[in-house]
Amino acid sequence: MMPVVALVGRPNVGKSTLFNRLTRTRDALVADFPGLTRDRKYGQSKLGEHEFIVVDTGGIDGTEEGIETKMAEQSLAAIDEADVVLFLVDARAGLTAADQAIAQHLRSQQKDVFLVANKTDGIDADSAVGEFYALGLGEIYQIAAAQNRGISQLINLALEPF
Ligand code: GDP
Ligand code: MG
Repeated sequence: MMPVVALVGRPNVGKSTLFNRLTRTRDALVADFPGLTRDRKYGQSKLGEHEFIVVDTGGIDGTEEGIETKMAEQSLAAIDEADVVLFLVDARAGLTAADQAIAQHLRSQQKDVFLVANKTDGIDADSAVGEFYALGLGEIYQIAAAQNRGISQLINLALEPF
């Protein structure tokens, strides 16, 4: 069974950009993986020696109403079925209340969570990401999904135990 990696975070942080980088639009054969539902977007990825399933989610921000509630439910379900959670934040936008709400949920789960600061291209990333330590999730992994930067290092670390 391949490990399942969920991409979560508030809308617009770059989850789908990372998903597309990881999968290069290869769709996972969800039917081959008992326990996965068709409701979410799955892809299959092979990076170096790691093969895994990636789950994209619509986004979650802790204040959902209406249709957004469904998106948030998807994100919670994706976290639930994942072996590893990549929690994306936006290094350019900085820390938001939505990030805080997601972090609070993740801290209550028994999951391997990697805090990933995306959009670190073209900024002073080391100083920009400092404020995310307040989320209480430990180390911050810097990537620029749109530039394909930092991704293989992140995956090597996140999937090392599998
Ligand atoms: P999602 O809502 O979390 O799935 O976010 P998307 O993947 O749709 O990306 C939201 C916006 O951020 C898009 O305009 C992307 O082009 C942009 N974006 C994603 N990754 C990066 C990055 O590494 N650097 C920059 N500068 N922009 C990015
Ligand atoms: Mg998206």
